[in-house]
Order: sequence, then structure tokens, then C-alpha cells
Amino acid sequence: MPVPFSEASDAYDAIIIGSGLGGLTTANRLAYCGHKVLLLEYHHKLGGLAAWFKRRGHIFDVSLHGFPYGMVKTCKKYWNREIMNSIVQLKKIVFDNPQFSLETTFDRQDFTSILENRFRIPRQTIEAFFSAVSSMNFYDDQTMTTRELFEQFFPGRTDIHRLLMEPITYANGSTLDDPAITYGIVFSNFMSRGVFTFEGGTDRLIDMMTAELEKNGVTICTRSKVERIVVEKGRVKGVEANGRVIAAKAVVSNSGITNTINNLTDRRAFSEAFLEKAAAIRVNNSSCQVYIGIRKGEQVNDIGDLLFTSSAPEFDSRELLDLHTRSKTFSLYYPKTRPGHDRYTIVASMNSRFEDWQNMDDEQYVGEKELLIERTLDDLTRYLPDIRTKVDWVEAATPRTFNHYTLHTCGTSFGTKFEGLDISRTIFKEIGGLFHVGSVGIIMSGWLGAINYGVIVANDADGYLRSLRG
Ligand SMILES: Cc1cc2nc3c(=O)[nH]c(=O)nc-3n(C[C@H](O)[C@H](O)[C@H](O)COP(=O)(O)OP(=O)(O)OC[C@H]3O[C@@H](n4cnc5c(N)ncnc54)[C@H](O)[C@@H]3O)c2cc1C
Repeated sequence: MPVPFSEASDAYDAIIIGSGLGGLTTANRLAYCGHKVLLLEYHHKLGGLAAWFKRRGHIFDVSLHGFPYGMVKTCKKYWNREIMNSIVQLKKIVFDNPQFSLETTFDRQDFTSILENRFRIPRQTIEAFFSAVSSMNFYDDQTMTTRELFEQFFPGRTDIHRLLMEPITYANGSTLDDPAITYGIVFSNFMSRGVFTFEGGTDRLIDMMTAELEKNGVTICTRSKVERIVVEKGRVKGVEANGRVIAAKAVVSNSGITNTINNLTDRRAFSEAFLEKAAAIRVNNSSCQVYIGIRKGEQVNDIGDLLFTSSAPEFDSRELLDLHTRSKTFSLYYPKTRPGHDRYTIVASMNSRFEDWQNMDDEQYVGEKELLIERTLDDLTRYLPDIRTKVDWVEAATPRTFNHYTLHTCGTSFGTKFEGLDISRTIFKEIGGLFHVGSVGIIMSGWLGAINYGVIVANDADGYLRSLRG
């Protein structure tokens, strides 16, 4: 359990700022390696964007829509077997748009069959495409865009581009103009076995992770906003939070990389060249969501676990971001998702731009949120005609909501574009003992990306702490 901030000691080996999945993982690994670790979280709950909230008996998951099978190995190796055992497949992924309607298990075998039999693509081309994307790795050429990749294998086939791209845009905010590698790595991860979820919901996962952190001796304080990373003579000395300085040999920021550089650290501690590169970082888009609770005792038909729906004629990254987009993903949470909890909930997710919502006055903001809810219920009525009679809770979140709860620049849902990764990976070269973990560069975002990155950064910080011991 988190302890009051006043109970934290005056000095630690490592302080982790933020408890997103990246921060939690780094904290856990460092404590497991024997370091004295303090985890400080601004919000009153842990998890960051791996969030949930309760309303009138409903539990809504904010970002538990699906992750790749790789989570099984990652959780077994870096968390524990119990967490791993709760990872289950979402078997019914549905697409419905003016170009096609289909159901899939979202794995390579099923996609091969769909591309061959439905979209009439020769087997050889499909195999060549899969082999090209699965061989992409981090160090590859980053000049080819996803658009160019698709044109190379499926020229002019906007229907196939949509099938391949739409889910990935929802999964990490990437567009056709981002480097193909950001697409290839994430798409291949999903294609290995399909889409998975965490049985019992985000609250259960974060509870299990918290128990593991406690077992390893991490001190956890919530409602503790770090105001400043203390740097002296090119090295971190600790952090300032709630008006108190706590010393640390290493500081790992899970706050966004732009926040970390611009708001938490004295910018004079960085070199001009580094700041120039950091200024070029583009943050990813944000999201809107509509949370729909079904009245106790009511049921909804099985229309799929994930439903990618759009009435836009073709896939267009800009259309997906539009304030009034006609594209959204419905995540359906049936009672099986939370054994022992007999409620149905539905969450609609849309990609969104912070700037579209930022400058609205209060009246306009409330009005647009209501319109968003109405459009969402209208869209859902196409699949569940009597849904409006079954709903007893509905509310919306916007980029402003995400910004409010996570402090992320522009409420970004998926960190930064590709250039953020290099800055995140090199920040320790600028300031000894300062590390960053969290969604950057598209591939390090998402539940799996954030946890895996947490492990990488824990290794870096562990190496640094050991080097201090001589
Ligand atoms: C709407 C939505 C849907 C998503 N759906 C999926 C999905 O289906 N599958 C998937 O894999 N991923 C999904 N994601 C992305 C995924 O949730 C994130 O990539 C991942 O959880 C981010 O983890 P992180 O480590 O980067 O930290 P974050 O979750 O971004 O957390 C950072 C934490 O740092 C804290 N913090 C910031 N500044 C301070 C400070 N100064 N002091 C103290 N604490 C601070 C914040 O409060 C926060 O808790 C979704 C995201 C959104 C927004």
C-alpha cells in the first residue's frame, strides 16, 4: 500500500517519478536488484494511463483494449507468473466500414487467409509482405514510410491499407507518414498470435503489480507531484516534491520526455545541442473516449470484443483525428472479462487532437462532449439497436481529461513520435544519473512497449548505480 509522503526517507538509491507501466516496471526491477527505491506518483492511483475508474457499480478500463502476445513472456520474466496467467486472448475482432465488413482473430494465419481469399492477393505477395515487416528491427532504415511500404506490396489497394493500418493507428497513434518500422514492429507483434487482454481488468493488474513492488521493498507514495529534479554539477542529486527535497543517486522520470526536459529539470543543465534536438520532438495525438455502462441485469449480444467501425469512405489518418470523426473502436467488456463481476461495459475510443479541445470555452466544451456521446450512441445503435434503453451511465473523456490526469504534454496518449526515443535514450549522457522511461518513439508505447522499456531503463540505471560503488 502507498504510504504518506511524510513517511518517505530522506535518501534513496533511485527515485522513480510516475507510476505508468514503464515507471512501475523500472521501480520493480531496481528494487529486485537490491536498490532502495522510492516511487512518487502525482495521482491518487497507480498505473498512469493504465487506468480504471468506478461509476455506479461499473468499472471502466481506460486503456485495456488489447496488447500483443509478447506480454505473456514479458510479465512472466519481469513481473510474476500469476500476472502472466491472467493474460487471455480476445478472439473476435470485427471490422465494419464502407470498404469491407469482416471478423478475424487478428493473427498471421487468419490475415493471410483474408488477404488471399477475400482481397484476392497472391499468396507470394502476402508472404513477402509478412516477411518484410517481421524482419524490421529497431536499427533499420527509418526513411521508408508506412504508406510507401503498403504501396510497395499492395499498390492502390486502399481497402487493404485500411485493414492493415486502422488498428495500429488506434494502438499507437502512428500514421501512414510515420516510419514503416514503427508500423512493422507493432503489427508483427500482434500478428504472432492475435490480441490479448488482462482477465480481471486493469484494477486487478495494478493491484498485483503493487503487491509485487511491496514484496521487493519499493516505497510508494501517491499524491506526490515531483516539482523539480535536483541537479548539481552535471549529476542528479534527488527530487523536490511537496516542498521537500529527497536525495537519490539516480532519478528515473516516467513523466513525458518533453515534461522531463522542459518542466522538471533546469534546462541550463543540458547542452545546447541536446536542447535543440529535444525541441524538435513531436508529441503523438491524444484520445477521446466514451464510457457506457449497461444497467445491472441487462445483457448485450456478442458483437465482438473489439469493433473497428467507420463510415468514412476510405482510411485517412486525418479523418481519424477529426473532432467529428466518423471512425471509432468499440471495446466490449462482457462479464467473462471480469469473472465475478456481472456487468457489461462498452468503451468507445477515438484518436483526437489536443488543440481542437484546448481552447473551447466551458459551454462549448460541455456541448461538444454531449455531441460526442450522442454520435457514439448512434454508431453503437447500428450494432445494438436497443442499446439506448439499456444504458444507465455514460460519460466522455477528451484530450483535456488525459492531460489533467497524467500531466502529459497535449494529453498525448502514445508519447512522442520517433525522434523522442533518441532523446529518451541519451538523456543520461547529459546529466549523470538521470534516466527517462515511458512512451516514446511509438514502438516504446502501449502496455507491452512501456513495460519492455521499463526493463531496458532499469538495466541502464542498475549499471549506473553499480558503477558508483566502484
Ligand atoms: C485512450 C487510450 C487507450 C489506450 N489503449 C491501449 C491499448 O489498448 N493497448 C495498449 O497496449 N496501450 C494502450 N494505450 C497506451 C498505453 O496505455 C500507454 O502507452 C502506457 O500505459 C503508458 O505507460 P507509460 O509508462 O508511458 O506511463 P503513463 O501511463 O503515461 O504514466 C505516467 C505517469 O507519470 C505520472 N507523472 C507525470 N508527471 C509527474 C510528476 N511530476 N510527479 C509525479 N508523477 C508524475 C502521471 O501521473 C502518470 O501516472 C492507450 C492509451 C490511451 C490514452
